[in-house]
Amino acid sequence: MNILVINCGSSSLKYQLINMKNEEVLAKGLAERIGIYGSRLKHTPKDGDSVIVEGAMPSHKDAVKYVLDALMNKEYGVISSTDEINAVGHRVVHGGEEFNKSTLLTDDVLEAVEKCSDLAPLHNPANLIGINACKELMPETPMVGVFDTAFHQTMPEKAFLYGIPYEYYEKHKIRRYGFHGTSHSFVSKRTAEILGKDIEDLKIVVCHLGNGASICAVDGGKSVDTSMGLTPLEGLIMGTRSGDIDPAIIEFLYKKEKLNLEEIMNILNKKSGALGISQVSSDFRDIEEEMDKGNKQAKTTMDVYAYRVAKYVGSYAAAMNGIDAIVFTAGLGENNKDVRKEICDYLEFLGVDVDDEKNNCRGIEKDFSKDGAKVRSLVVPTNEELMIAQETKEIVQ
Ligand code: AMP
Repeated sequence: MNILVINCGSSSLKYQLINMKNEEVLAKGLAERIGIYGSRLKHTPKDGDSVIVEGAMPSHKDAVKYVLDALMNKEYGVISSTDEINAVGHRVVHGGEEFNKSTLLTDDVLEAVEKCSDLAPLHNPANLIGINACKELMPETPMVGVFDTAFHQTMPEKAFLYGIPYEYYEKHKIRRYGFHGTSHSFVSKRTAEILGKDIEDLKIVVCHLGNGASICAVDGGKSVDTSMGLTPLEGLIMGTRSGDIDPAIIEFLYKKEKLNLEEIMNILNKKSGALGISQVSSDFRDIEEEMDKGNKQAKTTMDVYAYRVAKYVGSYAAAMNGIDAIVFTAGLGENNKDVRKEICDYLEFLGVDVDDEKNNCRGIEKDFSKDGAKVRSLVVPTNEELMIAQETKEIVQ
């Protein structure tokens, strides 16, 4: 069984074709600049070099056509017809309270997903465009939606309610939803496997530290709290997002800088976080380079970042009455030993104890705790595409 995994953004489309017999990636790629000048597809078949296909992609449907053509290309393709795609798994960012698990995308379900667009106006419409484009081009192929929010639907009310009038939850469903659920779920399951324990018996904190970053308390395999909220803006300091701030800052900026709401939200989403504090870059590789040159602001950025993550881990240890493992994943979590070390050093009181030599690793599964440490510290690379494919397979079967 081959499953095509699609992750559709407003002007991009990422894909992987996975053979579910052995979970091998047959091909993967990215269509960029959809709907604007200079669109192109980068396609990488297994055991082959990447190819760049340039051509007009005025719509997502065109992009999907390019993807299918590349997958079936005589030279660099990996299948001979779309019949060899048995199902398509789509990443859908927001499933609201409607969806607590992955779902077959019937017309009724798509209508419900559209209703969630209010909650994720930047993401859900793009996801829907991708789904509809695939449905048009492969009408007989089952499509499954895998929601970023679904894993967090197990959070109790005390974790998901905000301290604002309850009527806003009742009327508008304003509450914490959380994101990166596919990653938190995948990584926590894999952690239990690595530790050779039943996930039901584990209290795990997963730190998904990428350009977008969130942290999740996983108790007995279930999400009980997470740092992102109604939108992905809340929580940790991110590449360009502020994470938690005093909400009154919005009014303050409005008055002092004469900015309107749209401009302020743009600053909080796109010009804040690591980029905003460091004034260097949203990418921690650049920030580290500046640190090495003695840039104090870059060092401050790293300190603010690590401190915020450590505070969240501490609060989740309180929420779960202890933790057994802290796990790092995504670009920064998997690759940056200094950030991991700085965070873990705050957590010695919990029983976290890092082996610096073992921590000197990148992008591989590793338990980097000292032998005998009470709380295990691990790197577990995330694989959201594989998780989407696994969920899709389960549903279509
Ligand atoms: P992501 O959104 O998961 O791609 O993560 C992006 C962040 O991860 C950026 O801040 C990068 O600095 C960091 N990152 C990604 N790859 C590496 C790498 N190979 N070495 C160090 N940092 C990396």
